[in-house]
Amino acid sequence: MNFCADEDFALQLDAEDPLRPSRKKFHLPLGKDGKPVIYFAGNSLGLMPKAARAILEEELDNWAELGVDAHHAAGTPWYSYHETLREPTARLAGAQPNEVICMNSLTVNIHLMMATFYRPAKSRFKILMEDPAFPSDTYAIKSQIVHHGLDPKEALILARPRKGEFTVRTEEIVDLIEKHHGELAAVMMGAVNFFTGQLFDIERITAAAQKHGIIVGFDLAHAMGNVPLSLHKWNVDFAVWCSYKYLNAGPGAVAGAFVHERHATNTKLPRFAGWFGNDPNTRFRLHLEPEFIPVSSADGWQISNPPIFSMAPLRASLAMFDEAGGMEPLRAKSIKVTGYLQFLLESVGHSALTVITPRDAASRGCQLSILAHEHPKELFQKLQAAGVKCDFREPNVIRAAPTPLYNTFHEVWWFAQILAEHQ
Ligand SMILES: *Cc1c(COP(=O)(O)O)cnc(C)c1O
Repeated sequence: MNFCADEDFALQLDAEDPLRPSRKKFHLPLGKDGKPVIYFAGNSLGLMPKAARAILEEELDNWAELGVDAHHAAGTPWYSYHETLREPTARLAGAQPNEVICMNSLTVNIHLMMATFYRPAKSRFKILMEDPAFPSDTYAIKSQIVHHGLDPKEALILARPRKGEFTVRTEEIVDLIEKHHGELAAVMMGAVNFFTGQLFDIERITAAAQKHGIIVGFDLAHAMGNVPLSLHKWNVDFAVWCSYKYLNAGPGAVAGAFVHERHATNTKLPRFAGWFGNDPNTRFRLHLEPEFIPVSSADGWQISNPPIFSMAPLRASLAMFDEAGGMEPLRAKSIKVTGYLQFLLESVGHSALTVITPRDAASRGCQLSILAHEHPKELFQKLQAAGVKCDFREPNVIRAAPTPLYNTFHEVWWFAQILAEHQ
């Protein structure tokens, strides 16, 4: 695609954008001047779909009017509320419906998946992760290792960028797997790195590890709703994600997990159990049926009854992904928007900035991580003062994530303009 740095070009791209109507379906936070801020923080907290309020109020009304009967009342009974999320979630994950379950929060789901899939043996007890990983993932994985009586210093292998580079080469990861395959029990990585925005080659990493019988899990926090996924086809063993970033389901919204069918239907797999993972036919016999019989699907990992108020906004949000036509048109716009941002950053001659996110569209989602060489904090503060909402990672990286559902090409143009003025 040939881009041009004129403002008119940005306006033209917006006029031609088939996804343009979806922006109107979100509440846009306003700046001091009363105009919407340039919201490039959807990688931290996605904006609120306008439909979220009504769908949440519906459940508050059900509670007010029906009390306990709302669990089984017509409409969307609370008892099976998670089932309303199953199909649209499976579409985004590239999964079969029986492979996904919306439950808990993200880090909790990491622990639940590790409880099943991290079974360290005498010679095979190590876990491979990327560095830097999101701190919660690092804490979770290290504590899993300690939980098994092992030492993270010995059991954790980190795939790092080479000296002078910012992102981790796939070869590096594959080489580490080859080198340590006799000791590795699991590979657990972010699919899109939170810091650099790098999208890993999930299929290749999965195949490289599984060749040696190593379990592979991915954290999709920055991938779900951002990049197309084919978890089933790629044969990933398990995956977890949150719903408040690109899925726009609101703060602390219910998270999700993927368990590949070949494991999901294996009711013999050890797990941490609770009544909602139990066969629905015997679930309500409570004290009469003390034996846990897992559901033969990803539901078998569900522990508690569904958190309705943290699920309702996700229903509204997932419907918007379907209305937009799914990940294919969203990804097409995303590649264009982010490519345009990169073009502008380079063409306006931002010599004091380096984009550390991979250039290749296949190796990134919508986020660009911009390393500011001089006065990074001041630059970030100037962006904020000019009505830009993005974020700053110590010591010197500004992360900007233009999302295809609600950001415009003109916002990208304006963002680059502000950066040029202030660098
Ligand atoms: C956002 C994010 C988290 C947050 O975890 P919660 O359990 O939802 O608080 C964890 N890991 C990664 C990779 C993230 O991007």
